[in-house]
Amino acid sequence: MSTYNTAELRRQNRSRVFRYIFDSQTPVTKQDIAHSLSLSLPTVGQNLKELQECGLLETQGTFSSTGGRKPRAIGIAAGVRCAVGIMISVYHIHMVCIDLRANLLGQTSIICDFSDSDEYFRNMAGELERFLDENHVDRSHLLGVGVALPGIVDEERDTVVLARIVETSREFPTRRLTQYIPYPCFIENDANAGGIAEWWNYNAHGNMVYLSVQRGVGGAVLLDGVRYMGRHHHSGEFGHMCIVPGGKRCQCGMRGCLEAYCSTARISTDLGITREEFFAGLEAGNETYAALWKEYLDYLAIGIHNIRMVLDCNIVLGGVLAQFMEPYLGELRARLCAINPFKSTGNYLKLSHYRSWSTCVGVALHFISEFIDNV
Ligand SMILES: [Zn+2]
Repeated sequence: MSTYNTAELRRQNRSRVFRYIFDSQTPVTKQDIAHSLSLSLPTVGQNLKELQECGLLETQGTFSSTGGRKPRAIGIAAGVRCAVGIMISVYHIHMVCIDLRANLLGQTSIICDFSDSDEYFRNMAGELERFLDENHVDRSHLLGVGVALPGIVDEERDTVVLARIVETSREFPTRRLTQYIPYPCFIENDANAGGIAEWWNYNAHGNMVYLSVQRGVGGAVLLDGVRYMGRHHHSGEFGHMCIVPGGKRCQCGMRGCLEAYCSTARISTDLGITREEFFAGLEAGNETYAALWKEYLDYLAIGIHNIRMVLDCNIVLGGVLAQFMEPYLGELRARLCAINPFKSTGNYLKLSHYRSWSTCVGVALHFISEFIDNV
């Protein structure tokens, strides 16, 4: 075997050992690894030593012994690397920092009106540094900074076409976004990033739909964890499915779109209140809100049901609506059952794990998964 092949084989073994420990949600033993990966104990021992010297593994106690020395419980030292995810929206910049296990180490939301200007991008880089300082992030542990925004990222031409963030769609070079950020950067569409975060969390095998409901309604179709983009990058535009022919006018200019019925604007700005005020009123028995909410859930159920009928996979409901949905999940699932011609409990609908932080976590995960793949 040539030197190159030996080195490559060693790298692959190290990567497999790390990946195995990473994928096991609880600590494992050297024997587990050797058995599961069909590697010899000395090979596993050597790899564990190397990974531990890099600080990537740690001993997390011992297992009980069946005779002889107690086996060591080996786990990932999750805090040894981190990544930051930034989400740009019309009025805010949201940031999270996550560790190797996608645990949130810190999060913040800054009020800042978007503008396609140097001042805005410089300010964003300044806020990032402040955020890193506040969370005591060692820059040498930072793998990179992901930025997500509501737009289509054209990788071939290195441009972003903004969709809903400004009144008229406009295009600008991706490097402008991150020009003041002195770390490796990655730019992603917001719904796509949210979908990746939830797919990762649910440890999904197979396919999943992420439905993001906030002012805009959109989402992502993930086939084995990879987004299906469609020919014109319009896959997952669930907000513009027609659910009421000739119905309410939508932002897009058409009538009867899901977004026209289920934008969170319907239960906030259209009423001149905040979302928090709406749900507080609903809980307090406000009859107007109750009637509106019933209608809202009816339409939302139609949208979710239609997606289910096309793709027959789990659907994760995210976006800002998700943070208020826990008490109403049963009602929504009951509606889904009632209109499903096949046997269904409606349990295919899940609530997003990261709530309104999904997008930030998802775009940060780009660096985590890249790191894990290349250990
Ligand atoms: Zn529309």
